[in-house]
Amino acid sequence: MKADNCRYCSKGTDLAEVVADLEVSTLYLVKDQSYKGRCIIALNDHKTELFQLGPEELQAFSRDMARAAKALYEIFKPGKINYAAYGDTYPHVHFHLVPKYDGGKSWGQPFELPPSPENFASPEELAARIKEIKSKL
Ligand SMILES: [Zn+2]
Repeated sequence: MKADNCRYCSKGTDLAEVVADLEVSTLYLVKDQSYKGRCIIALNDHKTELFQLGPEELQAFSRDMARAAKALYEIFKPGKINYAAYGDTYPHVHFHLVPKYDGGKSWGQPFELPPSPENFASPEELAARIKEIKSKL
């Protein structure tokens, strides 16, 4: 199921830019890069809960997430990647993939969820980061 007014169906770019289409999901780079490398991985279909995915789809989504996280880990060398799923307002299972750095912002705490336009990276920085992530996927 697809919907025109859905951020993830339309691959909207208000808060994030598409990095790559994966097996069953799309990887986005969040424009707020106050956590360097912050991404969102969103299932392409309208399903809100992991248990609604069939076994093959669930495995593919797990592979997509691990593949994306590995790329982020290799490039940005975080102390830990945080994985967070909320999704109250968009009907796609999606995870925030948020690299955290020892001693850096929110280390040892939940990351700050709402992206903030004053922390948006420049279009050039976003393009360079997207290119780098794509090269490691
Ligand atoms: Zn949608």
